[in-house]
Amino acid sequence: MKNRIFLSSPHMSGNEQVYIKEAFDTNWIAPLGANVDGFEDEIATYARSEGASAVSSGTAAIHLALDLLGVGKGDSVFCSSLTFIATANPILYLGAEPVFIDSDEDSWNMSPFALEKALIEAKTVGNLPKAVLIVNLYGQSAKMDELMTLCDAYGVPVIEDAAESLGASYKGKKSGTFGKFGVFSFNGNKIITTSGGGMLISDDTELLERSRFLATQARDQAKHYQHSVVGYNYRMSNVLAGIGRAQLKVLDERVNARRAVFERYVEALGEIDGLEFMPELEDSYGNRWLTTLMLNPDKIELTPYNLIDALAEENIEARPVWKPLHLQPLFEGCKYYSHGENDDVSLRLFERGLCLPSGSNMTLEEQGRVITLLKKHLIGVSSK
Ligand SMILES: *Cc1c(COP(=O)(O)O)cnc(C)c1O
Repeated sequence: MKNRIFLSSPHMSGNEQVYIKEAFDTNWIAPLGANVDGFEDEIATYARSEGASAVSSGTAAIHLALDLLGVGKGDSVFCSSLTFIATANPILYLGAEPVFIDSDEDSWNMSPFALEKALIEAKTVGNLPKAVLIVNLYGQSAKMDELMTLCDAYGVPVIEDAAESLGASYKGKKSGTFGKFGVFSFNGNKIITTSGGGMLISDDTELLERSRFLATQARDQAKHYQHSVVGYNYRMSNVLAGIGRAQLKVLDERVNARRAVFERYVEALGEIDGLEFMPELEDSYGNRWLTTLMLNPDKIELTPYNLIDALAEENIEARPVWKPLHLQPLFEGCKYYSHGENDDVSLRLFERGLCLPSGSNMTLEEQGRVITLLKKHLIGVSSK
């Protein structure tokens, strides 16, 4: 069997051990310490945000952001539909109700048109959402100008789920810095990793202080253990923050490598009629976390699943695009605003979309194997 090619696997820089060793040498194995402080400062500097708070996962960061905005029982939160479940689960943790917003075709992200429809209706019935959760899918920024203008006009705070888009930028501003809060993830499959972890960033340092309080069991200032509000155990470990510090140093290299992977796919497969790669918005610079494309069923008979199965036979991992959340059994009955009257864009992206192996550590030879196989199935060309 040929060696396995992963969709996106951890890619260490070689310097992680230096920081881990420091944590061990000073016996800071706790969920606080110099690496956590350093990692927070370095992320804030990189993103050009006022502050950052390191947590145990991206999901935890979203949970804290929603909590800090006062989301609770009976509130509604607008949320991109085309995303991983982690974006929306914390809405349920807080007993609030998600309202899902469709994507548009140029960005694959939240449609400003659908968002406006939803905001107008919510305002009419006097039930504006407590927050809008905007996802930057597969490393591409959403149309932040249009979306922020709308949210500002209605006075609704934005949380940017930038779990997949760390290192990307939109009109020269780093992904994750557009809303009240931005969220990054350092899960093992993301562009950089701490093996597991997340970051909440904001220009509001008071709210970030509050997030540290909530993330450490919400302990009041007293000599004994006293608690007045519900807290969580969400702080990042000092050992893992060490991995993150070394990883952050190579983030821009990782972005370049992922973009090069994308370019090679386009060069090799771009001519195939009916293959449509995820576009890149003008004035934006994605990290191309995953190379994703659509198969036009008018021109290509194969479905994404046919290709996923064919690649799996050769020990290559490919995946469908996220199944939209408004179609998940968990969210049955939740409201959904589509991009067009009879045009459910996220559903179409799901039905036709395919994610290809895109790791920054994938070799040219490995990518060649993926390309050869795709060509063979899509146009019947088989080189050897
Ligand atoms: C990975 C991911 C998350 C969650 O991050 P974790 O660190 O795994 O909790 C949230 N949103 C999106 C879009 C993601 O891809």
